Amino acid sequence: MTRSLFLFLFLIGAVAEARLRVAATTSDVAALTREVGQDLIEVTALAKGTQDPHMVEAKPSLMIKLRDVDLVISQGLELETAWLDPLIRGARNPKLAEANHLLELGPFLKPIEIPTKALTRADGDIHGGGNPHFQLDPVRLGEAAVIIGARLGELDGTNKAQYVKNAQAFQKRMNEKTAEWQGRLKKAGLTEAVTYHKLLSYFCDRFQIRCTVQLEPKPGVPPSASHLLSVIEQIKERKIRLVAIENLYDDAAGEKLKQALPGLKVSRVAVSVEGEPALKTNEQVIENLVQIFEGAAK
Ligand SMILES: [Zn+2]
Repeated sequence: MTRSLFLFLFLIGAVAEARLRVAATTSDVAALTREVGQDLIEVTALAKGTQDPHMVEAKPSLMIKLRDVDLVISQGLELETAWLDPLIRGARNPKLAEANHLLELGPFLKPIEIPTKALTRADGDIHGGGNPHFQLDPVRLGEAAVIIGARLGELDGTNKAQYVKNAQAFQKRMNEKTAEWQGRLKKAGLTEAVTYHKLLSYFCDRFQIRCTVQLEPKPGVPPSASHLLSVIEQIKERKIRLVAIENLYDDAAGEKLKQALPGLKVSRVAVSVEGEPALKTNEQVIENLVQIFEGAAK
């Protein structure tokens, strides 16, 4: 090997070594972080897009993923606490003991559905800090990208300008898409839908669709027969046309609703990046949902 080739390989190695390593708790945050960091960083996701992010098993294989990352980005608002805390402890990565190497996005994004009363176990698995499932709101995704860009820039000053630029470009695109999606959904005219868990709350809020009826009687509690009867009554009474079941949940309740109400549209919907194999970006996930809501209005 010539000396110059040796030097070249050494430099390539040094550059690869220098790339910031980021672990994202969910596939949505991973995709968003890639929009901001592009090929300047390495991103790994802990939960899969088809997995229930409330209930990920804190496996040793996930601990290993955290062993030498520079930054962990989570949705926060207690979504991942039960499994992320043990993973971070188990990883024994000294960087993760420092506050600027952990980034919890939710609290910065004006959470909705903050409980107004003190919670007890009888309330189910409610998120005490507000709803953490912001990934289906394009405007909050844009805001989150800017927050991620700022943090990446803090940890990797060399590429700071590029992170900020990428984040701003993404935010601009999301804001433009929001206007387009708002127009399409308004035209389609669907005003209300039933969901399984409150995973579509931000989507519904952004696009002015009422999504107050859930198949879960309480968060984290599977639908009971009596609760389903009350849902059926509400669907009839308010002439609701769509039940959107987040595809990480069981289909059985949807089947029962279809039997009880033959004209009702019951769709299993992906709510995360890679929630279906074709959905590779945050934008594609929202576009897919918008199409389902448009289709149900016809
Ligand atoms: Zn939840």
